Amino acid sequence: MRILVVEDEKKVAGFIKKGLEEESYAVDVAYDGVEGEYLAATNEYDVVILDIMLPKKSGVDVVKDLRIKGIKIPVLLLTARDAVEDKVKGLDSGADDYLSKPFAFEELLARVRALMRRKDYGITELKFADIILDQATRKAKRGDITIDLTSKEYGLLEYFLRNPNKVLTRTMIAEHVWDYTFDSDTNVIDVYVNHLRSKVDKDFPKKLIHTVRGIGYILKEEQG
Ligand code: CA
Repeated sequence: MRILVVEDEKKVAGFIKKGLEEESYAVDVAYDGVEGEYLAATNEYDVVILDIMLPKKSGVDVVKDLRIKGIKIPVLLLTARDAVEDKVKGLDSGADDYLSKPFAFEELLARVRALMRRKDYGITELKFADIILDQATRKAKRGDITIDLTSKEYGLLEYFLRNPNKVLTRTMIAEHVWDYTFDSDTNVIDVYVNHLRSKVDKDFPKKLIHTVRGIGYILKEEQG
């Protein structure tokens, strides 16, 4: 899943990015409100973490304008401690949740997961056929067999499980699993999908991740 962090304090932004990447999220960073709004409006993010006090345009104005444009990405606002007025304004502007600074990283993660769950109607396990991915424990299983995944493989499997029976182009995969520094001309996606397949499909008679020639991949149960 891909997250946009809009935060002008470089140290804080770097700390959030690094922490989220360790949890397998793809993370882009913007350092002011105008750039943040542009990225949020032109990319497919799953969550936006948005500081309120930003150069060029405040977080509250950014979320307001995103909502006016009909962009419904879940937004977590970061507010200064005890700035009650900010919180009220933020939620009124169309943000989904807020977190006061300074915060423990674990709490930020919990809020991000809650926002993603809201999109999933409270479900923490993603399932398809006999694959189960528990997003709380980050453990994957096929049938009774536990599958060890690297961070990127986890991100990739999560994206497949959220979009079963749907052809996923390399561009779509790149946009949701990698950040904007990713060079889509490389065959990195194919390499990672092959790694994932060797873990999820290779030792099982029923293959679930299929190549769609010239386009990309699909997670499906083969008919017949
Ligand atoms: Ca700030």
